[in-house]
Amino acid sequence: MLTLVPTPIGNLQDITLRALEVLKNADLILAEDTRTARFLLQHFQIEKRILSHHQHNEHNALKEVIRLLKEGNKIALVSDAGTPAISDPGFLIVRECIKEDIEVYCLPGPTAFVPALVMSGLPCDKFVFEGFLPQKKGRQSRFLFLKEEERTIVFYESPFRLVKLLEEVMEHFGAERKCSVSRELTKMFEETRRGTAEELFQHFSAHPPKGEIVVCVAGKE
Ligand code: SAM
Repeated sequence: MLTLVPTPIGNLQDITLRALEVLKNADLILAEDTRTARFLLQHFQIEKRILSHHQHNEHNALKEVIRLLKEGNKIALVSDAGTPAISDPGFLIVRECIKEDIEVYCLPGPTAFVPALVMSGLPCDKFVFEGFLPQKKGRQSRFLFLKEEERTIVFYESPFRLVKLLEEVMEHFGAERKCSVSRELTKMFEETRRGTAEELFQHFSAHPPKGEIVVCVAGKE
């Protein structure tokens, strides 16, 4: 069987008891970055065989992983942080396992968008997760597509493009659209700032942000 195991997005105390159990009982761990995984496993005193499984080799590695699963190995998949397959490698292997009739489980656990959405104060009964926007080609058309969206929209964004994203939100959705920016969730300098797109644009233009960021944008009223 394959189990996707969410790992902390900053605070190591967010690992779950089940995550530790699955990692301890796995025959093999697939990791986006073997060094990051080794650090995490060492912290929890788990020694395991780790194989690299990242976006550049996941297509080619599929056959071998499926073979190992069919041999009866219990495999755990972890990404660098958060839930595998959420803006991280994982989807391809899940799809292949389902095709090959191999059991797949995903443990509940850390992911960045849920706390950001809940803390945004924007409606979270219905929302869309956009993840990362394309950096160049297709970015504009994504905004046009989202123009009529009535649900809260969640984006992952790099600190270097946050100001540009807020500017685009103003341009396409209006300067008064309510937004929130969550930074460094679960870490020492965690902060969530709420306001209109323009207020947040002004703030982050004057105070360039650092760290990892989730942006929530209210849907069209
Ligand atoms: N798999 C992860 C998850 O479940 O959230 C997402 C991985 S994606 C490659 C990394 C992006 O997630 C970051 O650029 C940021 O947008 C968001 N992210 C991850 N950790 C975060 C944190 N501690 N605070 C804010 N955003 C975070």
